[in-house]
Amino acid sequence: MLGTEMHKDLLIGGQWVPAASRLPVFDPATGEVLAQVANATVTDGLAAVSAAYEAFASWGYTPARVRAEILRRTFEIMTAEVETCARLISLENGKAWRDAIGEATYAAEFFRWFSEEASRVEGGFRYSPGRDKTIVTDHRPMGVAYMITPWNFPAAMATRKLAPALAAGCTAVLQPAAETPLTALWIGDVLQRAGAPAGVVNILTTSASGQVSEAILSDPRVATLSFTGSTVVGKLLLGQTAQRVLPSSMELGGNAPFVVFEGADVDSAIEGAMIAKMRNGGAACTAANRFYVHESLSKEFTAKLEAAFSKLRVGRGLDSSNDLGAMVSNAERNKILALLERAATEGSELNALADIPETGAFIAPYVVRDVRHGSTLTNNEIFGPVAPIVTFDTEDEGIRMANDCEYGLISYVYAKNAGHGISLARRMESGMVAINRGLASDPAAPFGGMKESGLGREGGFAGIHEFLETQYFAVDL
Ligand code: NAP
Repeated sequence: MLGTEMHKDLLIGGQWVPAASRLPVFDPATGEVLAQVANATVTDGLAAVSAAYEAFASWGYTPARVRAEILRRTFEIMTAEVETCARLISLENGKAWRDAIGEATYAAEFFRWFSEEASRVEGGFRYSPGRDKTIVTDHRPMGVAYMITPWNFPAAMATRKLAPALAAGCTAVLQPAAETPLTALWIGDVLQRAGAPAGVVNILTTSASGQVSEAILSDPRVATLSFTGSTVVGKLLLGQTAQRVLPSSMELGGNAPFVVFEGADVDSAIEGAMIAKMRNGGAACTAANRFYVHESLSKEFTAKLEAAFSKLRVGRGLDSSNDLGAMVSNAERNKILALLERAATEGSELNALADIPETGAFIAPYVVRDVRHGSTLTNNEIFGPVAPIVTFDTEDEGIRMANDCEYGLISYVYAKNAGHGISLARRMESGMVAINRGLASDPAAPFGGMKESGLGREGGFAGIHEFLETQYFAVDL
């Protein structure tokens, strides 16, 4: 299934190192074991920190242009081998081929964007208002950056951290989710081939994420944590980083509202809904999770969304004729089914709109009618191809329901025109708002949330600053 040349050991200090035990990686479409990767212990984790710490002594002072060229080569290799990357993503995560290619391309773009940003970090010079000194500001790399990533975007969540960290001059210890370690190992190999010096990037695959992370976060040589995952685990890690006052960037849960206001074009809203809901089979922090539709449009929107869902083909991700692949595991699929069961007991009408294969972690796409705001499906991040629809009467009511949530990552707003959309977007409590479109993610844009969706921004001009310290020099010039 996987080529024998595929690395399955830990990447520490430029070497592929076996661990005391192995960790099986499953294909969720078939249940087959794809590979047995090294299962890192606390000792391996601390060895990775040592390697990153030693490498920082020279990488932190390597000219930005040299770092940029390595990042650019990484982008070029990933782009040339995009199908290899997509294949690994689809195999271990289950997602549809189109989504896997989309992710691999998006993931590579972070290396291109941050290769360009590496040499554009600006310092500052100005006089104090009383002219008694000059104020010089500088930025320096923080040091060893520890990164923990989830299973839903095995490539992009890693590169969105690795690229800015390396551009800034930091070295990295990356720990991918236990379900999807293969893509991260492949990215480590690409970085080695692109010329990243030994120890600049270290990859730990483990089933003991809690133990390994606790030891790494207690190590004074680690300078920052960048985490993407659930809000529950994010809060737990913030409790640990608080002990060392460690800078922590957090990309957490979503529960995005998709609001169709009076006067919006329904066909265009359906087109956007299919992207916002079905990208990655709904397993995205940015996935539209709750649909609020103005009562004048709700009947038409619901009927058209059901028609669009019923055209979807569900099956193995590697078969490019399928639109929806498998969920990452049976456990994840069962979580979604449990939410649906609860929704049915609350009086919602569930419509499963496609056939699914008999085996594997598949789930049909559902449109759910008669949903009440504040019920199970609007209160929980569903993380699957399920679209609950709630109807509202006034603009204020639509906005109130959209904002009535502890999360604030992204909102989708369909309005009569762009001006109306921007006035609505200013009232949404989310770090990102997609206006009359179903996709916002872009390596050149600041990605991140308000409220319990996180701290900090990735991508854009802001992303590199998550890995830089600002230093001020008071000086007479
Ligand atoms: P998760 O359970 O929080 O896991 C995320 C990562 O944290 C995995 O690598 C996991 O490793 C690790 N982890 C779990 N428990 C840990 C602990 N006690 N200490 C240290 N690390 C630990 O989240 P998930 O289920 O993989 O991903 C889904 C969540 O991620 C959703 O809430 C989604 O919204 C969010 N997400 C957010 C963004 C964003 O940019 N805001 C992007 C993607 C996903 P193991 O796999 O080994 O347990």
